[in-house]
Amino acid sequence: MYNLETKVFYCQIDSCRAIKEYQKKGLCVRLLAVEEQFFSAQALERKEGVEVISIEVSYWAFLERLDGAGRVPAKAERDKFDLLDDSVRERSRWYRLEVDWNTKTRHGYAYPTFSEEKPRYFELVSCRTESQTISLGPAPLFNQEVMKLPLSHDTGISTSNASPWTLSAFHVGQGMCSIVSDGKQALLLDIGAGTPVTRPLYQEGKITNELAQVIEGIKTIDLILSHADQDHWRILAWDAELRKKIRHIFVPENAKSLAYKDPAIKFDIKEIQRLHIVLSTNSWLDVYRSQPKRDDDNGQCLVTVFESAGKRALIAGDYVYSRFPSDTNKDVADLQNQDFDAVVVPHHGDAESAHRIVKARQGAIAFFSAGNHRKFLHPTQISRDNHKKEKYTEICNNNCPDVRRVTLI
Ligand SMILES: [Zn+2]
Repeated sequence: MYNLETKVFYCQIDSCRAIKEYQKKGLCVRLLAVEEQFFSAQALERKEGVEVISIEVSYWAFLERLDGAGRVPAKAERDKFDLLDDSVRERSRWYRLEVDWNTKTRHGYAYPTFSEEKPRYFELVSCRTESQTISLGPAPLFNQEVMKLPLSHDTGISTSNASPWTLSAFHVGQGMCSIVSDGKQALLLDIGAGTPVTRPLYQEGKITNELAQVIEGIKTIDLILSHADQDHWRILAWDAELRKKIRHIFVPENAKSLAYKDPAIKFDIKEIQRLHIVLSTNSWLDVYRSQPKRDDDNGQCLVTVFESAGKRALIAGDYVYSRFPSDTNKDVADLQNQDFDAVVVPHHGDAESAHRIVKARQGAIAFFSAGNHRKFLHPTQISRDNHKKEKYTEICNNNCPDVRRVTLI
């Protein structure tokens, strides 16, 4: 169990309305934190990194104490709070939390993010917005625009259309996770999860984990992270065995997260603007850094296109199709004019993902990765209906309790 005597944490919000992993799944604010003594620009940027703590605290207790409110704010105020995690500026804001470990009241709990330690419960004593702004420094920029995997199947002139490279998506609940692999090497495209796939169920081995099966024989894996929301990387925090295999973690240039400072992943993080990954003569990945018109968290991302033996798939994280045309990265804008054999439906099939859906090729699949979060209510019916109208065959299983693999291409 997490047992340091620190009572004060400095935190940034990951999600204003998450579902607790422990404590009967109450509504909570999910934060990433450092202990008080590390809250300085110097400590946060120190070479060896700094341990990042995960905190989940009752949504109601948090709002009741926020800046000395003394009561839970009215619905209109709460609605405003709920939207804070969309904003890049708001997410970089720090909160000071003081906790008491030694009472029976349990407003929430903390544990080291990249660990298998049990949570330690606390009462929330106080909570305030910190006036000091400390901006996080960038990770190093990856120094290549083209990368060839070490074991690329370079067969010279290929007359066959076959490719050993496949794309699979996983049912991971309220999160996103896909893999491109030839059975010997692999690239993960996000590695998140969420309700009903939770940390305790995952770590205690209570669910079937087909991701673990797929990567069993694979030694090194590169991870392409669409953006820094936890529902896109939580399995990385939960699974120490999997972390050992990770070589590079590609993240969008100039989109920061406190999580990247933890020594468990800090040394693997590489920012990218554009990357072409050669897999074989007829298989590759194109990774584009978005340049969104609106500066929000979901928009500052990496969009990935996988092509193999003439088939094409789109994996865009939480960046919905209707935002492509106004993106000032021409490669991203151009995706609107392409057609696909498979899409991982952006933003878990929210209402916005129902518009300007990219064209489906014959037999194309739309994979919905949404889980059963009772506030988000993803995927929306309109997104499902409109994907069907666009002639996609949907794969949607919100209540799947296990990490299950579905081959898309
Ligand atoms: Zn997401």
